[in-house]
Amino acid sequence: MTAELSKGLGMDNRKILFRSTNRRAPAVSFEQALLKGIAPDGGLYMPEEIPRLTPEEILKFSDAQYYEIAFEVSRRFLAGEIPDEDLKRIVMDAYNYEIPLEHVYNNNYIMRLDQGPTASFKDFAARMMGRLMQYFLNRNNGKLLILTATSGDTGSAIANAFYGLNNVKVLVLFPEKEVTARQRKQMTTLGKNVSIVALDGKFDDCQTLVKQAFGDSELDYLNLSSANSINIGRLIPQTMYYFYSFAKLRSGDPGEQVVFSVPSGNFGDLCGGLIAKNMGLPVKKFVVATNENDEFPKFVKSGVYEKIEPSLNCISSAMNVGHPSNIPRLVQLYGGNMDENGSISNAPDMDLIRKDMYAVSISDTDTEVMISDAYKEHGLLLEPHGSVGWAGLQRYLEDEEVNKNQLCISLETAHPAKFPEKIREILSFDPKLPPSLQGLEEKKESYEHLPTGYRAFKEFLKNNY
Ligand SMILES: *Cc1c(COP(=O)(O)O)cnc(C)c1O
Repeated sequence: MTAELSKGLGMDNRKILFRSTNRRAPAVSFEQALLKGIAPDGGLYMPEEIPRLTPEEILKFSDAQYYEIAFEVSRRFLAGEIPDEDLKRIVMDAYNYEIPLEHVYNNNYIMRLDQGPTASFKDFAARMMGRLMQYFLNRNNGKLLILTATSGDTGSAIANAFYGLNNVKVLVLFPEKEVTARQRKQMTTLGKNVSIVALDGKFDDCQTLVKQAFGDSELDYLNLSSANSINIGRLIPQTMYYFYSFAKLRSGDPGEQVVFSVPSGNFGDLCGGLIAKNMGLPVKKFVVATNENDEFPKFVKSGVYEKIEPSLNCISSAMNVGHPSNIPRLVQLYGGNMDENGSISNAPDMDLIRKDMYAVSISDTDTEVMISDAYKEHGLLLEPHGSVGWAGLQRYLEDEEVNKNQLCISLETAHPAKFPEKIREILSFDPKLPPSLQGLEEKKESYEHLPTGYRAFKEFLKNNY
């Protein structure tokens, strides 16, 4: 490490290495893990050790701006790879919007992660990852083709985060019938370095094609990289809002703990929270709320993991995932091993998983009922994903007879205006558009259609890049 780089890194300036969950590939630097996306052995990169923040450091966050917390958290992982001044610039530029913490009743809050440019919580991860990639690529004169599968919100967050960058091209695959018109328009109206392909299939089919392309050595020349939630560059930014919300809402009592409810699909958001807990954030419980794709709640109950194929189409469409790609990371955090296909070679500590997490599946009917009840009882406006999280939290509070002073924070992961049809049907009004979603209707769309097979997709890649 040069003297310049080591300056100001704090107490711990050892470089953290990143290792594949399959453990058959060498450990790499953050830069390599970020630009590669998936490890050569098909596993997911995880930090070899998780840095810790002291209670005093976490206490100091109470007076900090979001970007300052983002800086302090991320520099623990990026020590020795990016000078502090550059990292600070990146987080200030990425996090230039509000994070409302809305009081609902008792000590229960909604954290709205929907104020970014695509009105989805995925902006948090995508904007930072895009800026980090651009930073490293500029430094090395590199180029990348980002290949990403989306069930709705990832695609637009990634496309917007990378839009206009000169050394990165973006290709997004989406299941045509599973995204709303508005979600589609957020991707297909961009142009420039962003291309969009619609598949006549499900999200899992899109994900499969992306994985096949990554494993295809004939496509090495494309310098493919992934921006799905398997990229470690998306995981680290998903730890920060857990610190932020706790810091802003804590009462100040020593030993205070917080409950988070996380509406979960691919489990990147939850893994971010689990990493925050491992860094020292005092989390009493994660409510892991899924829609009817209930492979995880079943796993927690029985200890047996079975993916759901094909995944079920629920109204919280961004969570229609029958085999969440981040589950191997979760299993590793609890001392086990799972490969990318979901087979477990070494069981995680199920008792500890049950102690840390309350996993619950919320039906579409209950999701709709909760959108209605939350609005009528508390004036709380939720869209389907946030409603799954909030409904999961209510189950947990009843089931475990939780004290009404317990601080609980439920994540709202998209803006209700992204789901106007549902809101209109249930609440009989149109949610107001945030500024970021205005003017979409008039913009011109451009995208291609492909069948679900790999051959056609590979031809498309070879012909266009
Ligand atoms: C992606 C997404 C989720 C699920 O997040 P994961 O990290 O995939 O579990 C929840 N809500 C919305 C709106 C999303 O776009």
